[in-house]
Amino acid sequence: MNSTLNKLFTVILFLGISCFTFAQEINSQKLIRHIEYLSSDELAGRKPLSEGNLKARKYILEELISMDLVEPLYPDFLQKFSFTNQREQKTYTDAANVVAFIPGSQSRKLIVVTAHYDHVGIGRVDMEGDSIYNGADDNASGTAALMVLAEYFSKNRPQHGMMFVALDAEEMGLRGARFLVNDFPYPLEQILLNVNMDMLSRSDKNELYVSGTYYYPQFKSILEKVANGSDPKLAFGHDEPGTGSNDWTKSSDHGAFFEKKVPHLYFGVEDHEDYHKPSDEFENIQPQFYINAVNLILKSLIALDQGLLE
Ligand SMILES: [Zn+2]
Repeated sequence: MNSTLNKLFTVILFLGISCFTFAQEINSQKLIRHIEYLSSDELAGRKPLSEGNLKARKYILEELISMDLVEPLYPDFLQKFSFTNQREQKTYTDAANVVAFIPGSQSRKLIVVTAHYDHVGIGRVDMEGDSIYNGADDNASGTAALMVLAEYFSKNRPQHGMMFVALDAEEMGLRGARFLVNDFPYPLEQILLNVNMDMLSRSDKNELYVSGTYYYPQFKSILEKVANGSDPKLAFGHDEPGTGSNDWTKSSDHGAFFEKKVPHLYFGVEDHEDYHKPSDEFENIQPQFYINAVNLILKSLIALDQGLLE
């Protein structure tokens, strides 16, 4: 090959690789737009069945049903459920998980991606006079991530079926997740794993945890390849029994899958000073960390989808 042709070939190859690399990314502008809206004062902390919670539900629903490939598994994409909160002596009727399904191209097995969209609502006033618990990190961050991940896979069909479930009433005891696993539309054995996301948008140590490989070492070698040189650092741990609150195995919705012996991986950051305070708001997230963290979860999902094919 002459040198001009050679150069041309190199440029084409480079462009090809760049396109491929760019394609494996979430829509970061939308990610930020989603978290900003979900954690805005207008939604008032998204307590189950509050006006703000219903607005969040509508927003997630409209985004998910606008995507290609997405199919409903429940009427109007909503899995409704009721429960009684003993502490408040109150029964909640028609709480709802938002469920979108993207059928796999190769396998009937499922990867169930979850994030809770509820938070604790209006509460005690803090020193600044703020009483809205916006729950930006907890868990508008996981919900917004779920929406852009679903968007990615609606354009890049996965090999396994993927369910994207925005769960309700986590803060009242994993209610939505427990209802999901007890009223699941397929046999639970069909679930390859649950990937749960709860608190993704800030870390002073530039560290995202993936917890669960203590119980499910079959995922570790796949994730180690993704973790190699990653930004942020993908850290393993927070899943050893007998380590008290350092063990996150039942700390969020993946706990409901764990109780049913369905494998899980949980992505999240360590607790921070604004955890469960009115100051967990949009102004206090770290946008670049957050975008990088969700891209890292995307890479993990792609690697798991490809690496676990039988
Ligand atoms: Zn949470």
